[in-house]
Amino acid sequence: MNRVRVIKIGCSDPRIQISMRNYLEKFHDAFEDRQEVFPILNAGGQRNFTAEHQRIPFLSQIEIAVNNGAHTCVIFAHEDCGAYGGSGNFQNLADERQTYVNDVNTIARYVESRFAGKLKIQKVMLMRKPRTEDFSRFETIN
Ligand SMILES: [Zn+2]
Repeated sequence: MNRVRVIKIGCSDPRIQISMRNYLEKFHDAFEDRQEVFPILNAGGQRNFTAEHQRIPFLSQIEIAVNNGAHTCVIFAHEDCGAYGGSGNFQNLADERQTYVNDVNTIARYVESRFAGKLKIQKVMLMRKPRTEDFSRFETIN
C-alpha cells in the first residue's frame, strides 16, 4: 500500500465520484488505478465526520493512510448533499455553500491538529452545472 499519496475524503454520493477522481488526477497527479489514492468515503462526508463518535474512526483511517505514505489529503464537499436534505433544504445557494464550508473547516481543523507537519490539507467544493447532475465545476475553500 506504500504507493498511497493522497487521501480522498468525501461523500459516497455516486454523482460526485467521477469528479473527485478527475480532480485528483488533474491537480495531484494521483490515480486510483495506480493505487495512489486512499479513499475515505461516507454518505454525508464532512457532515458525518464532524460528529464526535465518527471522529475517532475517521482520524484512525487517516492515520493508516499517513503510515502508508499519504502526504496530502483532499476534503471534498458537494452541492445538493443528501445528508443535509439536498439543496432544497437551504434558503439559497450561498447559505448552502456556507454550511458545507463550515463543516469542511471543522473536520480540517481536527486533521490539522492531529497530523500537523505530516499532511497537507486541501478543501474543495464541487458544484453542479445548472439543471444537470454534472459536478465537474469546483472551487477551492480557503
Ligand atoms: Zn453528499
